[in-house]
This record gives sequence, C-alpha cells and structure tokens, in this order.
Amino acid sequence: MKYLIIVLFLFLPFSLVLSQDKKINVIVIGAHPDDPDGTAGGTAIKFAELGHNVLFVSLTNGDAGHQSKGGGALAKIRRTEAQEAGKRLGVTYRVLDNHDGELLPTLEVRHQVIRLIREWKADIVIGPRPYDYHPDHRNTAILLQDAAYMVIVPNVASDTPPLKRNPVFLYAQDRFQKPYPFIPDIAIDISDVLDRKIYAMAAHESQYFEWLER
Ligand SMILES: [Zn+2]
Repeated sequence: MKYLIIVLFLFLPFSLVLSQDKKINVIVIGAHPDDPDGTAGGTAIKFAELGHNVLFVSLTNGDAGHQSKGGGALAKIRRTEAQEAGKRLGVTYRVLDNHDGELLPTLEVRHQVIRLIREWKADIVIGPRPYDYHPDHRNTAILLQDAAYMVIVPNVASDTPPLKRNPVFLYAQDRFQKPYPFIPDIAIDISDVLDRKIYAMAAHESQYFEWLER
C-alpha cells in the first residue's frame, strides 16, 4: 500500500478548512517541474476528483536537469512536460522562470511565493522539509517557511491582496533522518490512484526516460 504522508509545520485547525462549504484551494510547491508530482501527485488526484482546485508550482524552470540538453531549450521541454502531467493529474501546473540549480531564498523569490499563495487563495500549502541534500529543494522549503506568515501581512508584496486567514502548511513525506526523521501527522492512502500518479509522472520524459535513473 502506498501512502503520501504529510505533517503540519504551522498548525491551524484542519477542520476549519474542511468545514467550509466551498472548494478547497490546494497548492503544492516544489523546486523542479516533476517535484510536486512525486511528493503529492496521488493526493492531488484525489483532491481534484472531489472538485477542489489544485495548483502545482515549480519554482525553477528545470533548465539544468539533463545530461546533454540544457538552457532555454530544456526549459521549454520541461514546461511542456509539466503541462501534460498537469492534464493527467487534473491540476493546474505553473513553472516559474528561475534557473535550475541556482535557487536561493531571496526576497524576490519569497515575494513570488507569497503572490502565488495569495492569488490561488490557498487553504492548504504542501512543500518539502529543509533537510534535503539538493540546495534547490532545501531553499524551496526555506522560501515556504519565510512566506508562511507573510501571506497575511498586507504591507508585504502589497501589489497582491493578502489572505485573510493563514493557510495550513504541510510538509510532504521524505526519507531524511537528520536532523529529524519525518513524523507523519496525516496519512493519505493513494493506492487506488497510484497507477494514475505514475502515468502522470511519466509525462516528464526528459527526467524519467532520458536522464539519471531514479
Ligand atoms: Zn527536484
């Protein structure tokens, strides 16, 4: 049985979100086009099937993720792959134009993240923990932490209206043991949609069929 297990890092009552008689807006943020698919693809399918709104975001354009292709040409390929994956999952997929392998937790990117969360009117935000060996993954986690409170502060990124209420921020499952192993608070059984998740991930042909074996 396969699970996506996620844990709260900024705790707000989950029931507060789910009790509302409205669509839930979920945003999954990763560093690269294909990261959100791997960490939350099955959960996203389930949310989308229930009629909720799911947005996948890659903070970089993936232009370093290949052994022989690169630059703008690779970024274009990866954007197209992400769009196809989004279709297969039933989610909206956005790929930002920051360089792959060079993501830093700058004020500029933090504001990009704040605006994305606000524009989606997110109720739930899912992202990585900051213990990854890959600097882009680690910095994505830091960017989410840095944005987590600021999404409700009107004078920060003031060109985009702030959220009235802070979303629930959740960590996606990982296998890192240090400094702290992952301890799940929520587990979602995705075994009934696992095949569809894998089919969606297979849209990233440059990653799963050409580049490094994973
Ligand atoms: Zn990645």
